[in-house]
Amino acid sequence: MLKTFLCSTANMSGRFQGKVAIITGSSNGIGRATALLFAKEGAKVTVTGRNTERLEASKQVLLDAGIPESHFLIVPADITLPSGQDDLIAKTLEKFGKLNILVNNAGASIKDPENKTGINQSLGTYEETMKINVESVIQMTQKTRPHLAATKGDIVNVSSIVAVKAGWSLLAYYPMAKAALDQYTRSAAIDLIAEGIRVNTVNPGIVQTGFHESEFGFTKEEAKAFYDEIGSNRSSIPVGFAGRPEHIAKTIAFLADRDSSEYIIGQNIVADGGTTLVLGIHANVANTLKNS
Ligand code: NDP
Repeated sequence: MLKTFLCSTANMSGRFQGKVAIITGSSNGIGRATALLFAKEGAKVTVTGRNTERLEASKQVLLDAGIPESHFLIVPADITLPSGQDDLIAKTLEKFGKLNILVNNAGASIKDPENKTGINQSLGTYEETMKINVESVIQMTQKTRPHLAATKGDIVNVSSIVAVKAGWSLLAYYPMAKAALDQYTRSAAIDLIAEGIRVNTVNPGIVQTGFHESEFGFTKEEAKAFYDEIGSNRSSIPVGFAGRPEHIAKTIAFLADRDSSEYIIGQNIVADGGTTLVLGIHANVANTLKNS
């Protein structure tokens, strides 16, 4: 009782008080952390993903934080299916009556069924990669447009640093998809700001979520070892640790909060602990000098 009272008191002054947000891919990782942060700051949030166990875990995280059930909605849906998208939007409007913020966070690096890498991956893998990382964002943007125009709303897309101008020999298609998403953000931002809707993007670096378990088939322990190893290598991540979902959630919140970022339109914010500042050649030269 006391917990609920304290929480609702905090919500009264939150920056998302009175706002309704759909956060795709919130059954795990960055999306779950974003749903929690938004809800703590007063938003009513729709939490979604395909995996019902993970959705249940997200629900528990919200309840444990003292968020009342009236402030969130759980919708199991495949965001690549038009029926899933329609369901998500309809149920959000039915429960909360409006939509202010869309976070297009669901995304994945699709594993090739024959374990092929780089440009040897099948066209089917390419198509699936584009479907989840780009097509679903286009469809969600089109479908939520009238609702976001009505509230002068905000869209935040979650891209990646793999979209920057560098080749990725292991994975050819996921970086292509995220680069397409960045370019889509720019075009959508120009069109939609005329209706009062802002569109921006966050490009995370390495973040400790379920992402690398799916991408590389890691166990939880292997994923942890990977984050510890790469995080301790300042040639890979200058800040000295792999990111946590909360780091990205805070960046998403900044871009979704009009008071904080009203004049930012169609931009990318890189949140990567400095990874994209380091060129391989610089890391090599530094190591050579250190060892000489
Ligand atoms: P997770 O694997 O932890 O979470 C991915 C989320 O996307 C899950 O909630 C998953 O839900 C959802 N999702 C995937 N496919 C679908 C689908 N077809 N329909 C509905 N939901 C789907 O990874 P992250 O939290 O790391 O990923 C979030 C975003 O961040 C992605 O766009 C990713 O590309 C991006 N990113 C992540 C980085 C990292 O290092 N972690 C780095 C750069 C970018 P479910 O499985 O329940 O369907």
